[in-house]
This record gives sequence, C-alpha cells and structure tokens, in this order.
Amino acid sequence: MEKKLLNLIDSHCHFSEMAKKEMNTQQIIDECFENGLEACLDIGIATNDIKERIKYKREGVYFAVALYPSFSEKDYIVEVEQLEKNIIDFRSEISVLGECGLDFYWNYADATRQLELLEMQIDLANRYNLPVAIHCREADSLLVDFLSRKKLNQASIIHCFSSDMVFAKKYIDLGFKLSFAGNLTYKKSIEIQEACRAISVKDILVETDSPYLSPQPIRGKLNSPGNIHYTYDFIAQLKGIPTTRLANQVKENFYEIVK
Ligand SMILES: [Zn+2]
Repeated sequence: MEKKLLNLIDSHCHFSEMAKKEMNTQQIIDECFENGLEACLDIGIATNDIKERIKYKREGVYFAVALYPSFSEKDYIVEVEQLEKNIIDFRSEISVLGECGLDFYWNYADATRQLELLEMQIDLANRYNLPVAIHCREADSLLVDFLSRKKLNQASIIHCFSSDMVFAKKYIDLGFKLSFAGNLTYKKSIEIQEACRAISVKDILVETDSPYLSPQPIRGKLNSPGNIHYTYDFIAQLKGIPTTRLANQVKENFYEIVK
C-alpha cells in the first residue's frame, strides 16, 4: 500500500471540533497514522478542552492548550487561572500554548482586551517554557508591533499565515515559523503564495486547521489531517522542490519547536 502521508506533519488541527462535526475522529486519526502521518498537533481553543481531547493521546499526537481570542469578551482572568491549572495538571502532555491571538475580523472585543488576554497567555507560556501558536486575523500590524516588544522565550508559530511577503519577513525576523493552511491553495490567495515562495523552507510549517479550511481539491468539505498532503504538494510545486524534500525540512522545523 502506498502511504500517502509518509513523513508528513499537520502542525494545527482540532480533534474536538472534528468530533463536534460528527466526524469519526478516532478512526480518522488511526487511519492517518496507518497512512504514514508522522505527527500532528491538536490545538486547544477553550479552558478545559484538554480534559476531553487527551483521550486521543498516542505516539505522534501532540497537544496544545489555550484560550481562543473569543475569550476576550468573557471574564478571562478567571479563565487564564484555570488554564494554568490545566497546564500544571497535564504538563507532561502539553507541548504548545495555542491557539491564542488577535481577531479583528470577528472583533470579539476591543484591542486593549484582546491584547491583554494574549499577553497573559504569553506570560503563561514563558513561565512554563512553552512555544506559542498564534492566531491572527486582520491584525498583522498590531501583532507585529506587540511581538516586537513582548518577548517569547521559545521559537513559536504563526498559525494559518494569511498575509503578504512583508509581514512574512517581519514574523520570521521575530523568530517565528509560518504555518500554511489550505487557504494557500485557493486561486485568489496570490499574496500568501508569493510570501510562501519568497521565504526559506526552513521557516515553513504545514497545517490543515481541520475540520476547517480544506485545500482546493476538496474545498467546502470537512477537513482532516488526512488531507495534509494536498498542501504539501502545493507548496513543493510553488517552490520547485520535491515534496519529500519539503517534508524532511518541515519535520525538522516542527521538532525544533514541538517537543
Ligand atoms: Zn485553529
């Protein structure tokens, strides 16, 4: 059997959201690893979701925990305290703090609140020596400005990078790797494609953001880590290198951050 996911890593997926969409999540995960998937990072979005997600634990599955930007409209001080308790309780299972960040598309709260919540979570990450996976929607200028002042003590990830070459270079200069999702493969994503072409393979990660953002051939359908190969192939073609070479480098990049 040809293993179409051999050596590939999905740096950002949501098992809990897949389950909510009534996808057969455990079976999908098992099939991905049978097909050669090297690893995936299951991302947290809510205070206690790790308690549910931990059941998917197996070799090659890594976990992140964090409060999604939507928590900026809540009483987030209490939530961050509880998040810290979970980091302590699940310390040996948690590899990344994510996803947290800024979202001015959905505009959950004003910039002050969104930035405060992000800063509190970066402080948490620094306290426990965790890398951070950052969500950014329509907030690149503010985020770059913030990250230039706020230091993270671990090399970290900009999840679903969806901006242009200028911001790509700024994030890389700040020590981030850029994780590309299925939206890279859409016809209109010219700027993201240009950015991806311009940067070094050493700064690239690849993700599905399952169950969202399915790549072009299956756009509109529910996504799973089993579709990660479409985005690898797309990036390899964009950069004129074999997919196997891209996969080897992304693997190195991923394990530089996720342990
Ligand atoms: Zn996500």
